[in-house]
Amino acid sequence: MSVLSVLHQVFADKACFLCGEESDYPVCPRCASSFRACDPGWSDSRLAAGPASGFSAYWYEGAMRQAILQMKVQGEYQLAGQLADMLCNLARSLPLGDRPIFVPVPRFGVRQQGDPRHFPQVACRKLSTRCDGDSGIGLLLKTRRTPLQTQLPDTQRLKNVDGVFELSSSAPGELHDRTVVIVDDVLTTGATVCAATNVILQARPHQCLYLTLARSRATIAAGF
Ligand SMILES: [Zn+2]
Repeated sequence: MSVLSVLHQVFADKACFLCGEESDYPVCPRCASSFRACDPGWSDSRLAAGPASGFSAYWYEGAMRQAILQMKVQGEYQLAGQLADMLCNLARSLPLGDRPIFVPVPRFGVRQQGDPRHFPQVACRKLSTRCDGDSGIGLLLKTRRTPLQTQLPDTQRLKNVDGVFELSSSAPGELHDRTVVIVDDVLTTGATVCAATNVILQARPHQCLYLTLARSRATIAAGF
């Protein structure tokens, strides 16, 4: 448990997870205002991992990186709701098409796929109501456990997610001819969204996009 986590408990849920200052929100307004929004132009840049197109809200650096690591590694689930709200605010201005269906990048295991605190699920639930779409929770399944992508070197990320996703039995009917939006927390090389996109395309959607809370500059710096 981190020092900030301890501080957070001492202050009875009234401290910012990132700076420890008193706050009514998990991330205080000052820390939230330091998140650096992505230039929308990056949304069309090609990924190192292969063809997939979509959007990311913030750069994976500074306070945003700290927030996501706390959420993923230390399980600070209170952060998920606030960060999902911020993603919704971006998504409402995006050309996501007519009644998109939001599909979370899933965790392994049936029990965890029903975990309402998992960021991609929290975000999909909020997105489907606020962006006039549908929830695609449970349509994309993960077939085995994998290490966190953020903890692997680039060369191992593609291998880590190779063949790891599959469609649920109802997914082909529900995704066919729809605008499908794959939702995840961090885009780094794009290996995860590319693997998910390839599986979604088996259902012959109208189009398939990704939407992530954050994206790493490494995707572009790699020169692809
Ligand atoms: Zn703060």
